[in-house]
Amino acid sequence: MVKNASPVLAALRAATTDEKSAVEFLEAQRWADAPACPRCGDASVYKMTAVSGDRNKDYRWRCKGCKQMFTVRTGTIFEESRLPLRVWVYAFWKACASKKGISALQLSREMEITHKSALFVLRRIRQGLSMEVRVPMEHAPCGRRHAREGGNPPGRRQATDLSRVGGQPALSARPLDGRRM
Ligand SMILES: [Zn+2]
Repeated sequence: MVKNASPVLAALRAATTDEKSAVEFLEAQRWADAPACPRCGDASVYKMTAVSGDRNKDYRWRCKGCKQMFTVRTGTIFEESRLPLRVWVYAFWKACASKKGISALQLSREMEITHKSALFVLRRIRQGLSMEVRVPMEHAPCGRRHAREGGNPPGRRQATDLSRVGGQPALSARPLDGRRM
């Protein structure tokens, strides 16, 4: 039996070590074959390129409709972060795939980021996951717009232990693919 032969797992693994793979992995999760502008919804968008012909160093897209630039981060919980997306992919993966989840200490060690950054990442992931639980799938791309519109029900607070995310059956039992990030 061949272990770990799944193409999704292979892509996921690559996405935790290489930024371009991380961007492309998240783009595939978010848009599949139908990228669209997160601002105006126009499907007439294209990847920006550098002089060399490679992708723009920030992996930007441009929308022909509203003429604005965007990236896979735009309108998501990654938008305000400068941390590499491979860190986010790794944290999501570990938070969802293992019974114990991942601690901030472990994340900071394994991805070589500060403990403060690790806490931020895990906090955002927890917020993103709890948001998704309450928002119907067709409206799910955990953006700030949805945070404002959907938000937490009155009186409902986030769990306060943010040093470890995942590990609860409800989170760890759900597959990573199918989740919009
Ligand atoms: Zn647009």
